[in-house]
Amino acid sequence: MSTGGATRPPDPDAVYAALKTTGQLKSHRVVTYRCPQRCMLLDVLNLPDPLGVVVHIPRYRLSPGLNAQTSSADGRANNTEDGDNHWQGWTAPRAQVSRPELTCKHVMVPLEDEDLDAAISSRRAEVVVYPPGAQSA
Ligand SMILES: [Zn+2]
Repeated sequence: MSTGGATRPPDPDAVYAALKTTGQLKSHRVVTYRCPQRCMLLDVLNLPDPLGVVVHIPRYRLSPGLNAQTSSADGRANNTEDGDNHWQGWTAPRAQVSRPELTCKHVMVPLEDEDLDAAISSRRAEVVVYPPGAQSA
């Protein structure tokens, strides 16, 4: 989107993968969202400039029924690893992310931007996300 810059910012996906490989995610982590069964739903890191705060959605797999119900053939062709139900993870600067979807086998809910920003600014470390309707149980 920006033009005229001489330096290209590092690829957030590559940076995240490198930190994961070298065991350094923890030292950059601001907040992690998990489901009650401990799947990681979303990870937020605070990285050196120019990346700054980045949001990572891990790869996930859906059951065939849920997968067919919640995605289109085009979406599956473009965003899965196997053309079916193994969805690719991604990493992007916070500013480029809007209302990310939190998805695992147990939970599928959008994360409101104001909730994400509140968790980031309060450095809550971990947020557990319950499936809709289960919160009051
Ligand atoms: Zn889960």
